[in-house]
Amino acid sequence: MPEAAEAGATVELPDDAEYGWWRDTHPDGFILAVRTRSKPLLHKAGCPEVDRDVHPGRLRAKGARQICSDTKSALRAWVASELPADGKLVDRCPKCGP
Ligand SMILES: [Zn+2]
Repeated sequence: MPEAAEAGATVELPDDAEYGWWRDTHPDGFILAVRTRSKPLLHKAGCPEVDRDVHPGRLRAKGARQICSDTKSALRAWVASELPADGKLVDRCPKCGP
């Protein structure tokens, strides 16, 4: 299993089974949905919007990524370093309200 235990760490899990496992075992965690045409969207780990079984087409689309972390600050730091063109702007999902 990938290392995700360290506080502040982020993890990206392309494998659907590992991704599902992470969501199940991090109910208080957060997932950043990286999209190609708009700002990254922050979700709570349990939000159906980041469930690949519910939205397989969108979440597995080319350029779409889901970054997992126990903390929002780690995800904001990830955006700042990985997506500098987006600045530090992150939208919050209106459905789960992270
Ligand atoms: Zn959400």
